[in-house]
Amino acid sequence: MIAINNLHKSFGDLEVLKGIDLNVEKGQAVVVIGPSGSGKTTFLRCLNILETPTAGTVAIDGHMADFSKSLPKKQIMEFRKQSAMVFQHYNLFPHMTALENVMEGPVTVQKIDRAEARAKAEELLTKVGLKEKMNEYPFQLSGGQQQRVGIARALALEPKVMLFDEPTSALDPELVGEVLQVMKELALEGMTMVVVTHEMRFAKGVADEVLFMDAGRIIERGTPQQIFDHPKEERTKQFLNLIQ
Ligand code: ATP
Repeated sequence: MIAINNLHKSFGDLEVLKGIDLNVEKGQAVVVIGPSGSGKTTFLRCLNILETPTAGTVAIDGHMADFSKSLPKKQIMEFRKQSAMVFQHYNLFPHMTALENVMEGPVTVQKIDRAEARAKAEELLTKVGLKEKMNEYPFQLSGGQQQRVGIARALALEPKVMLFDEPTSALDPELVGEVLQVMKELALEGMTMVVVTHEMRFAKGVADEVLFMDAGRIIERGTPQQIFDHPKEERTKQFLNLIQ
């Protein structure tokens, strides 16, 4: 579903991604862990060109972006449609209700009829447990509820891949579980997901594969059991010792 080849990203002189190669199969949940500043968020943002990689290729469900060339805007738009991102800080529109937030993408981007978009948004908000909160504004919702709206909004675009960028790090601890539960259900339903998170329990319980990133490279990858119980690389061991 996702094929990444020799992906590089620099900000000026700072080389943040130093050649990432990765294949993700359809239905896999891949969790990316690693120290602060290792390039995890940048990597994720490169996957839907919120950051433009400096070199390399990414293909999602056959839609290829080759960053050694400058890409036509139309191709970028088409490529972006393949995935949807859930952000750390929700990024909901404050002047729109939960329902309107979820309808916005389908109506404005996909030009879907409002009634159809509304029905779909209601279904998705019900799925994330917010049936009763559809007509509330973001300020009337807890952080966990806002993030679940964020997930419903991403799902409304019917992406083939969901990208999660530290979706629970801005939440109070007691609200983390409800968001992780929604993500776990999505993984069990077979959604292809790439998740950057510091939630090791989620990684252990839900990931098909865990990637350990450090200094712009994937240092080690494997099943949760391989990475957490039998890490091979010294840097992985050091990181896990610090956080566990
Ligand atoms: P964290 O776990 O703290 O979020 P991370 O592994 O996600 O860290 P990134 O946010 O990808 O790391 O940042 C990697 C490096 O790239 C950092 O040194 C950061 O300062 C730098 N960086 C990220 N975005 C930009 C940008 N837009 N301009 C310049 N430098 C950037």
